[in-house]
Amino acid sequence: MKQHILPIVKKSFGTAANEQNIDRYTLTNRQGMIAEICTLGGIVIALKVPDAAGKCVDVVLGFHQLDKYLSGHPYFGCIIGRFGNRIARGRFTLEGNTYPLAVNNGENHLHGGLQGFDKVVWRAEPNTDGTPSLALYYKSKDGEEGYPGNLNVQVTYTVSDDNALRIDYVATTDRPTVLNLTHHGYFNLNGEGEGDILDHELTINAHRFTPVDANLIPIGELRPVRETPLDFTVPTKIGARINANDEQINFGGGYDHNYVINRETDDLTFAARVYSPKSKRIMEVFTTEPGVQLYTGNFLDGTLTGKSGQPHQKRSGFCLETQHFPDSPNRPEFPTTVLSPGEKYQSTTVYRFPTVP
Ligand code: BGC
Repeated sequence: MKQHILPIVKKSFGTAANEQNIDRYTLTNRQGMIAEICTLGGIVIALKVPDAAGKCVDVVLGFHQLDKYLSGHPYFGCIIGRFGNRIARGRFTLEGNTYPLAVNNGENHLHGGLQGFDKVVWRAEPNTDGTPSLALYYKSKDGEEGYPGNLNVQVTYTVSDDNALRIDYVATTDRPTVLNLTHHGYFNLNGEGEGDILDHELTINAHRFTPVDANLIPIGELRPVRETPLDFTVPTKIGARINANDEQINFGGGYDHNYVINRETDDLTFAARVYSPKSKRIMEVFTTEPGVQLYTGNFLDGTLTGKSGQPHQKRSGFCLETQHFPDSPNRPEFPTTVLSPGEKYQSTTVYRFPTVP
């Protein structure tokens, strides 16, 4: 076990189209876990996690080259904002004003619009006290992608010594607005390029989910998962029912659903656990958010080649996106996503990788 503190290493990752420099930071904890993060979209380019024997494997999908991130990809490892997931017909009403948003998913708004937080360049400040932690800052202007309010956002990534990637989100606004930040990592506990994730055993701490229509917009109900293929209350292989003849599964082309996390307090709560019998790796997710989107990479089609030189095939990664429920701005019955001046948006999610003895 390594005991010394490793410095945060900064390197250039290249230049964006507008000549902006993109930097890449490497954070390392005392166990040798490494997160590589770039200032474009706050993307976690690599997450190298040790197993019980200390062997590190990169468990996230992505690219080695900046160009590939710049030329379009399905949000690999990005910060998502202002609004994770879909807003129906790309509009919402707040305090009597209707705000039309950028529409980028059929007639709907997805993951913040055309130029969401995944595509902007963040200002980075590495921690200087020896903790492997990187703070990223972005000022989103009033009207950006249609949203009201000048928004100041800070997202801090920390690689803690219990082999966890912790993500703290903080934001303030100068006008009432809506906000729903998340992280869009695609995980494969066998390692990037090591096939699909169908053998991974998943547990989700949720008795209910938000069923969707054919456009993946919630219909407003909180439906029990019991006796449906969406039930992950006990460990179940992701692939066991992914092709079930079920309306919800058909709409998503697999899993693409928001689960209502069972919670008693607003504190960090256990959301999900994933175990790969092949690599014996475990990932646990804890969050302060009310929901988590399980997305099983149904739209990956092998056209993009990853870090390992293998194509990112359908279901070669899964996402567990902690979030408020999709389309909340149009669903007053869902937990609110409204942020007002004078309030502080605060949200934390932890992806932890315990080693099996
Ligand atoms: C959504 C999917 C979408 C994907 C984009 C996920 O968060 O739930 O429907 O296709 O992001 O890659």
